[in-house]
Amino acid sequence: MKTIGLIGGMSWESTVPYYQLINESVKRELGGLHSAKIVLWSVEFDEIERCQSEGRWDDAGAILAKAAAGLEAAGADFILICTNTMHKVYRQVEAAVNVPLIHIADATAAVLKAHGVGKVGLLGTRYTMQQDFYKGRLAEQGFEVRVPGEAFIGELNRIIFEELCVGIIREESRQYFARAIEDLKAQGCEGVILGCTEIGLLVHEEDSCLPFFDTTVIHAEAAAKCALL
Ligand code: GLU
Repeated sequence: MKTIGLIGGMSWESTVPYYQLINESVKRELGGLHSAKIVLWSVEFDEIERCQSEGRWDDAGAILAKAAAGLEAAGADFILICTNTMHKVYRQVEAAVNVPLIHIADATAAVLKAHGVGKVGLLGTRYTMQQDFYKGRLAEQGFEVRVPGEAFIGELNRIIFEELCVGIIREESRQYFARAIEDLKAQGCEGVILGCTEIGLLVHEEDSCLPFFDTTVIHAEAAAKCALL
């Protein structure tokens, strides 16, 4: 079994499910007392969020690159960045290590393909929804990616950072996400990517009028599968 390296803490609320999902997946595969070999490097999210909001992506990348090198030194055979947004600095992190990374959008693309989804909605932070680093990676793989109308972006981003990342789950916010998914359906999307690792803490299958693809679950399962290859 390979050792999985996790760069977590972005936010820690969403790193907890990674640990559980990976172990559940290994247990499902191997049974008995089997569990995953995991090394976790958890960052201080306030530092990362400041870098994001001040546009200091290289500084954030340097923090994650150091984390990745630490994980490699600790024996990780491959690494996951446990957030969609920070895949903006994927290349900087990838360049810092000799072990591979599993890109969260690539893992998601594989599942979308298996479900025959071509036109897909994307929910996430404003960085993920508005910039190209994530949508572009999916477009390169043949997907047509849509985000909710402009009016939704600010509030979805606020809910992520001011509520979900600090463990606040509100019914009004769940309904707001459900409306954003309706907007994506109206745009002709065949499915929706929960492209922020905290969204699954709030939105469940029954809240969504579209088939949904939770990147936390997909990424964690891809890690477990890779560990057992
Ligand atoms: N965990 C979130 C994501 O998947 C947002 C936190 C962050 O900015 O990294 O994008």
